Amino acid sequence: MEELFKCPVCESNSLSIALSAKDYFFTQETFQITKCNSCGFLFTNPRPNSTELNRYYQTDEYLSHATTKKTVLSILYSFLRNVSIKRKYSLISKIKFKGKILDIGCGTGEVLNYFNKKGWETLGIEPAENPRNFAVSKYGLSVFDESHLDNLQTASFDIITMWHVLEHVSDLNERITQVKRILKNDGTLIVAVPNSKSWDARHYKKFWAAWDLPRHLYHFSTISMTNFMNKRSLSIEKIYPMKFDSYYVSILSEKYQSGKTNCIKSVLNGFRSNLSAKNHSGDYSSLIFQVKKQNI
Ligand SMILES: [Zn+2]
Repeated sequence: MEELFKCPVCESNSLSIALSAKDYFFTQETFQITKCNSCGFLFTNPRPNSTELNRYYQTDEYLSHATTKKTVLSILYSFLRNVSIKRKYSLISKIKFKGKILDIGCGTGEVLNYFNKKGWETLGIEPAENPRNFAVSKYGLSVFDESHLDNLQTASFDIITMWHVLEHVSDLNERITQVKRILKNDGTLIVAVPNSKSWDARHYKKFWAAWDLPRHLYHFSTISMTNFMNKRSLSIEKIYPMKFDSYYVSILSEKYQSGKTNCIKSVLNGFRSNLSAKNHSGDYSSLIFQVKKQNI
């Protein structure tokens, strides 16, 4: 385990404990979330070091990217995944019609494959070996492990995407420096993360599935993401909601809280979360940040 004594966003050493929660998904071990008293950023602390973290990903559910059985759930999952891929494409093609895209944490490569078919030049980074090999053999994509990031040419990508990835990255500052280096000066970075200020986070508290301890090391909000990016000379241009996430997160959270699945209650709470975000705060369960380099 390693403990951080400074906030990864603002480097303040004034920290306090915000929440204790279990790894309900896998090990049932308890972890703590620290809050920075200066900027409000939340992060898992102490946390497993990068070697120890591997153990927390060794579950079938986390690794089963390629489903073989056709169940109602798997059909629903694949339908939602296709909707989500098309939505990602539509969002990005409004920024740039065609170009060079890097997907960090590309998993089994379905999103990149879609962009490839639309004529984009694609590259993927995926730390886990099984999904990486699947993306290469099934779709013929170029996908490498994280060490390959250092080999990529400076200012060479129009779009870099990190879909639910930044919250897993051990060295936040090193990763964002790398990303800035390889992004073109007029390029766009797309970062999607769970929102710790969402209605479902506040409702489920320690049972909120998107804390996902200790796999999620950082717990962003609009304010902390803005602070983080601005301090690194990056600006947030636009923020988009991910409206399906509130349902998915509520289904899991409800199970963690009560020990059983309650689809009706979960769907209702997913809907309440989206409604609250739409009417008041903009704080959807997960948010997509469209980020540009400053002063260009
Ligand atoms: Zn801070």
